[in-house]
Amino acid sequence: MSSHRKVLIIGGGPAGLTAALYAARANLAPLVIEGLQPGGQLTITTEVENFPGFPHGIQGPELIDNLHQQVERFGTEFVMGSVQSVDLSRRPFTLDVDGETLTTDSLIIATGATARLLGIPGEDKLMGYGVSACATCDGFFFKGKEICVIGGGDSAMEEACFLTNFASKVTLIHRREAFRASPIMVEKARNNPKIEFALNEIPLAFVGDAAQGGLEGVELKHAVSGAVHVLKLDGAFVAIGHVPNTALFKGVLEMDETGYLLCQGRTTATNVPGVFAAGDVADSRYRQAISAAGTGCMAALDAQHFLDHNS
Ligand code: NAP
Repeated sequence: MSSHRKVLIIGGGPAGLTAALYAARANLAPLVIEGLQPGGQLTITTEVENFPGFPHGIQGPELIDNLHQQVERFGTEFVMGSVQSVDLSRRPFTLDVDGETLTTDSLIIATGATARLLGIPGEDKLMGYGVSACATCDGFFFKGKEICVIGGGDSAMEEACFLTNFASKVTLIHRREAFRASPIMVEKARNNPKIEFALNEIPLAFVGDAAQGGLEGVELKHAVSGAVHVLKLDGAFVAIGHVPNTALFKGVLEMDETGYLLCQGRTTATNVPGVFAAGDVADSRYRQAISAAGTGCMAALDAQHFLDHNS
């Protein structure tokens, strides 16, 4: 494997893979560095019903698998590993991938985002002992149990519905009365007889002991009355959104106040010429698989244009 590339892509979700597809078909022989969770968030989701072209929906992992096969057909190479550091101060750019040095003329960042946690007492020590941030990974462990999902967005609605496949009862806990989730997702959850809503409830702490049976419940404070009580539960799923994976680029690439990469105008160009951003890492607004794939395409075309004018 050559250690120098014209295009190097960090991230193997829909953004990174679509960027690779376009770059490979432009004869740029891209290398994709897939992180520790190849395929990104789609690999921990279930049915994807809103990716165009699949009239009956498709499972997230299958969609990624299809994309992978499509990209490999055009000669993309993959490396599984973590980027430890990047030097974007001069071209070619330099990356340390688990101790190996790679250089590239252009870089596409498609590192995505990871689940946000509540940061309340008990969350860390009970993670894996009744508290989870991944319904598709851990739902199976809660067969016949009473659990909750915390959040009021599409993720929370989707996870609550999915978890009714296992749990006897799912309480959806949300800190407000209004939902960020789309009305169709809320309706689906509301129509599910196993789901109960606990609104205006702010989670204060997870209660229980990891060494002695794990989670026992969630301490909640009512946003209006201020009343505090513990809701007894066997499991709790945190579904309160995501944070962009941009730690590697702090102080180098321009970001908004929450860490999402900023692009120039309607392009994927970052503030460093030759470095492009695609997918959730630069999108705090839409965050859809299809928009990630779309910006992946844009990033590859932007990189191609850059290389045409800077080689
Ligand atoms: P989101 O839309 O940002 O919603 C996060 C939810 O968590 C909000 O309801 C928020 O409450 C709540 N929250 C945040 N911090 C909290 C805290 N500290 N304590 C209690 N609650 C907290 O995130 P998401 O649901 O992960 O969705 C992200 C994007 O992916 C969206 O664009 C969504 O449409 C998309 N998505 C789509 C699908 C689908 O179409 N099938 C499925 C999943 C996700 P507030 O509302 O009070 O801020």
